[in-house]
Amino acid sequence: MAELEEETANDETLQQLKQQMVQGWPDRKHEIPQNLATYWNIRHELSEAEGLISKYHHLVIPTAMRSNMLNLIHESHLGLEKCKARARAILFWPVMSKDIYEKVSKCATCATYRRRNQKEPMIAHQIPERPWQKLGTDLRECKGKNYLVVVDYYSKFIETALLPNKTAGTVIRHFKSIFSRHGIPEELVSDNMPFNSKEFDEFAREWGFKQTTSSPTYAQSNGMSEKAVQTVKRILKKADDPYVGLMEHRNTTVTGMTYSPSQLLMSRTTRTKIPIYPKSYYYQQCQSMHMQQQLEQRQNQQKQNYDKSTKPLPPLEIGESIHLCQDSIWVPATVSGLAQDHISAPRSYIAATSDGQQYRRNRRDLLKTNIPPSTIIEQTEDVGEEQPTIIPQPPD
Ligand SMILES: [Zn+2]
Repeated sequence: MAELEEETANDETLQQLKQQMVQGWPDRKHEIPQNLATYWNIRHELSEAEGLISKYHHLVIPTAMRSNMLNLIHESHLGLEKCKARARAILFWPVMSKDIYEKVSKCATCATYRRRNQKEPMIAHQIPERPWQKLGTDLRECKGKNYLVVVDYYSKFIETALLPNKTAGTVIRHFKSIFSRHGIPEELVSDNMPFNSKEFDEFAREWGFKQTTSSPTYAQSNGMSEKAVQTVKRILKKADDPYVGLMEHRNTTVTGMTYSPSQLLMSRTTRTKIPIYPKSYYYQQCQSMHMQQQLEQRQNQQKQNYDKSTKPLPPLEIGESIHLCQDSIWVPATVSGLAQDHISAPRSYIAATSDGQQYRRNRRDLLKTNIPPSTIIEQTEDVGEEQPTIIPQPPD
């Protein structure tokens, strides 16, 4: 904050802006100095206090500190949208979004781990009435280590813990730690071991929460956890310091809402490395009707978007000539069979290429073409890209 104050004082434009604010704004835009033109439309939102200029609750960043702020915003490689959302909620300078785009689009780490153009499983679950009422959980491996991931259906707040082993006892101990922090939920949704062990059942009974285990053939009913797992994996892979990444994620506006997980769960913004307007640290009444409405709207919007782009592909016959996607090119192959777990993975096939190799592929990565098997084509057809792995079904 001291640096910000100092640089604001050193910034010629901002000092001119301050002068203009004290002096009052003229009636016409052309009457102000040229370099203040970008502030004209927001002139009524600007205020100055203790040497800092803010646009409503957003600190106006002097030119000299912008690249430093860009570095902090992008430190955890959360991707373009998250970086923009994070910055827009707390900081301001003209062309900030463009600067963020320039920064992120040039980042090799962000590009390497960019999400595939795939839909994440979507379930129209009942939105809980309050934070930490219903949680999703999953155990996942990342870089050879096991992680427990817990997500709140209401706030999307993620808790994660590195597990030394996957025994029920270890998992339960970590749950106790997390519950001691945020309280015991009413319901916990999970889909695999060791959650359906006798020991875990006992824990659930003793601590008084309902355990919902999704059926093995219907994995997307734990879609909330699946999404949280992907988020945690991305943070573990990309962020130099995963704790900073997690902290930033928790303080970044939930897509489609005006609140962050921290605000939704704890009604406040937590202090991070990025400066924010000091009053934002105070308790904010978030448990309002407005928030519930936002959550519902968000979900409806997601469902609409999801359903819009679902387009079932015709099933393939065994023996049929197809092309399969391999390193972004389509290679000729033949459908040689269905996946062993065809019932739970109805869109998985086994395809054989001309060299005799067998590949398991999702229907999305198999192209029904009339192209003779000897031709190799560039991947131009996007018919498979929009296709979700699983057809949406009503929640069970
Ligand atoms: Zn990056």
